[in-house]
Amino acid sequence: MCPIYGLSDETWNHVYMCPNEDMVCVRMSEINKMKTILELLKTIPELKSHFEEVLRQWYQGNILVQVKKTNSLYFEMLQIAHEDKIKIGFDPFVKGFLSKEWAEAQNDYYRKEIKDPVFNIDRWEKAIVTVLIDYRTKMWKERCSILLAEKNLTEESRYREFLQQFQPNLRRDSTKKLHVMDRFLFKK
Ligand SMILES: [Zn+2]
Repeated sequence: MCPIYGLSDETWNHVYMCPNEDMVCVRMSEINKMKTILELLKTIPELKSHFEEVLRQWYQGNILVQVKKTNSLYFEMLQIAHEDKIKIGFDPFVKGFLSKEWAEAQNDYYRKEIKDPVFNIDRWEKAIVTVLIDYRTKMWKERCSILLAEKNLTEESRYREFLQQFQPNLRRDSTKKLHVMDRFLFKK
């Protein structure tokens, strides 16, 4: 069971999709980062919105069934890639594997439309894969810091209860004898 959400098994996919509100914040910030990177790298507009839609659906536990029909030259390529993905699922993509057809379409777009050597397919692939892999690491780190914060809170309150048993005796003496940290806890 997910130790911070509690209603789902804690599989790797769950860590990606965890509905805990802090986890959702990390997810939203990573999706925005992905959008910015796709924009900066002059991604085919239809491919950019396609990625966003695939991820949005996947994080909600769904699979995008169809590519949005457009007049784009790349529509057919996107559709072929999509049919392929439907068969194997989008888990590999979310974990950082890009479809060959996506890279081919993007490469074509760079050569025909952008015509600037600064934009090349290797850089494009590397940047997208990096965001996808970073997402996994960030979600895991967030999960662990939520758990650690909860554990510290519980320990602190247990220790406070423990100290309170001795309160009458301590009042008779002086709280000044207490360690500074314990005095702090008493006041809480
Ligand atoms: Zn969870």
